[in-house]
Amino acid sequence: MVNTISVLGSTGSVGRQSVAVAQRLGIKVSAIAAYSNIDLLEEQARRLGPRIAAVFSEDAAGELRQRLSDTGTEVLSGMDGLIAAATEESAGCVITAVSGSVGLQPTIAAIRAHKRIGLANKETLVCAGRLVMEEAARCGAEIIPVDSEHSAIFQCLAGKRGELRSVMLTASGGPFLGWTREQTRAVTPEMAVRHPNWSMGAKISVDSATMMNKGLEFIEAMHLFAVGPDDIRVVIHPESVVHSAVEFIDGAVIAQLGVPDMALPIQYALTYPERRAPSGRRLKLSDYGSLTFREPDLEQTPCLALAMEAARRGGTAPAILNAANEVAVHKFLRGEIGYNEIYGCVDSALSSIYYTDDAGLEAVLAADRAARIHVEEAF
Ligand code: NDP
Ligand code: MG
Repeated sequence: MVNTISVLGSTGSVGRQSVAVAQRLGIKVSAIAAYSNIDLLEEQARRLGPRIAAVFSEDAAGELRQRLSDTGTEVLSGMDGLIAAATEESAGCVITAVSGSVGLQPTIAAIRAHKRIGLANKETLVCAGRLVMEEAARCGAEIIPVDSEHSAIFQCLAGKRGELRSVMLTASGGPFLGWTREQTRAVTPEMAVRHPNWSMGAKISVDSATMMNKGLEFIEAMHLFAVGPDDIRVVIHPESVVHSAVEFIDGAVIAQLGVPDMALPIQYALTYPERRAPSGRRLKLSDYGSLTFREPDLEQTPCLALAMEAARRGGTAPAILNAANEVAVHKFLRGEIGYNEIYGCVDSALSSIYYTDDAGLEAVLAADRAARIHVEEAF
């Protein structure tokens, strides 16, 4: 088990739960980081006594610096601050729980500093998965998935990657499972963020509703487990009890089950390879009676289809998909575009933006920027 961690995105849904798990296990938190929520950062800094508190927004950082002047916490800002939090010397593990591709550079910095990565921030692997995995292998840094499906796959594999045949990636289907495109036209942000099984941040909740989240997870799984797109099957499983499964070369299928609660995958990333007692509810299968599984309908979930197509194209296509989706989801949350237009934004970015097979850092960052500008300007 690690004894000190840094939490990027400590004020968010996964970040707050990571802090809670760390406190319960007696793990120290030496760095925290967020975008601008300095009220919570101040409270966390006073409670946890980290060496670094990073605030992306410069103005908010100035305010927090004043508020924390009576403490030993150094307040940093911008991308440099985020990178300093990711590489804080005493942290053995960095939980990457920021939302969006802003997590890419701090994740790479943490890998180069030989930290264990507890990876929640899937957008990083979507836009630059090959680069990140190669850098992790080169530096000998462990990447332990926190995303529940990928944590499940990681647990099922138990190091036997060479014997893996296929991955079964389960999906709840979100709040609009079975709705037609006509029916989802009038979906509001309030409706989209209400997930039936999980309580999460706004962006990932919308992604779960459009099923772009499963598309991002499809690409995330390709990189984490070195599998091709034909070896990953998405399965709709509305109860969210089977968190995912793997099929081995002899046909044996091993699944990981549990109640839908992020505390377990977060805790496992910190205690791996050990296990500790859980904090929450335990699974009682008879409470469920039956568990159901079905194929996704790609016509009704075009965002998932787009992501699978981008996964096959490779190169900078996933980075374009991801950045266009981030901007589109934020536009939808601000009421600037309709729910079904999220797909339109991503599709338009994928067909208009210069695409290259090169997935190096410069190419990825340029594709990310171009896709953001395209969606900001065209919609
Ligand atoms: P939230 O929206 O709840 O939190 C996002 C966090 O990121 C906040 O702390 C926010 O700070 C911070 N942040 C955003 N932008 C920046 C920035 N530019 N610099 C520094 N910090 C920033 O998100 P979630 O916790 O739901 O999700 C976080 C990540 O984990 C995502 O990648 C998501 O896909 C993944 N994930 C989440 C799951 C969940 O259950 N929630 C499950 C599996 C994966 P501030 O509060 O100041 O805005
Ligand atoms: Mg997930």
